[in-house]
Amino acid sequence: MTETQTYRCVHYTDHVRCTTDATHRLLDPYGRGSSCDIYCREHAQAIMDEYWDKFGWYWTMQPLEEEL
Ligand SMILES: [Zn+2]
Repeated sequence: MTETQTYRCVHYTDHVRCTTDATHRLLDPYGRGSSCDIYCREHAQAIMDEYWDKFGWYWTMQPLEEEL
């Protein structure tokens, strides 16, 4: 049985994985992204805000469809 490639948000809240389809990848300030750093819009935005507040680290959200 072949599993269809899906892009699901990898964000966890209390050990429960988000069930929303991932729409964005987060890129670090150098424009580098990891294949596992894909999130729905809500969580991508939440992580950007959190890192900016805590570390002054600015992620960039890149829509996944631009890569396909
Ligand atoms: Zn999510």
